[in-house]
Amino acid sequence: MERSTRQRSAIRTVIDVAGRPLSPQEVLDAAQGEVPGLSLATVYRNLKQLLEAGEIQTVSLPGDSPRYESAHHDHHHHFQCQDCGRVFDIHACPGDMAQLAPKGFTVASHELTLYGRCADCGAAKKAAPKRVAAKTTAVKLAAPKTSTTRAAASTGTAAPARTAARARTAKPRA
Ligand SMILES: [Zn+2]
Ligand SMILES: [Zn+2]
Repeated sequence: MERSTRQRSAIRTVIDVAGRPLSPQEVLDAAQGEVPGLSLATVYRNLKQLLEAGEIQTVSLPGDSPRYESAHHDHHHHFQCQDCGRVFDIHACPGDMAQLAPKGFTVASHELTLYGRCADCGAAKKAAPKRVAAKTTAVKLAAPKTSTTRAAASTGTAAPARTAARARTAKPRA
């Protein structure tokens, strides 16, 4: 296989199997094993070509550099970890948001991003200071539930969901 074709196919595979949007640097890190000597410039050039070919699409988050994901995904949403910056897919949707729009307005589409802390960062945070019950806490912090989805959605913007998540996990135990 020609080198440029091999590079492009490796980059597309990395994005397809990632299961979450990747930054160009993350694409480089993941594809480097497959294509030794790959550079960030080459990654950018291939991303541009894949975008033009309709194979991938851009995930734009306010105030952050774009990520790239497969263009063949169904409707879904994203979660960005405020500690490590990684973006994850959320395969749940609050559904029709027509009732949130002002009277007389028609909703054509929606985007939704939850912000908080991913499971890896939650586990790392809990593991450091104390040894007690680290596992239980990590599981609780890891799950972006629908109630946080609603909290972010109702503001109409991508408001940080961390407060809602913390309030929920902080409720007294029975
Ligand atoms: Zn994280
Ligand atoms: Zn949705």
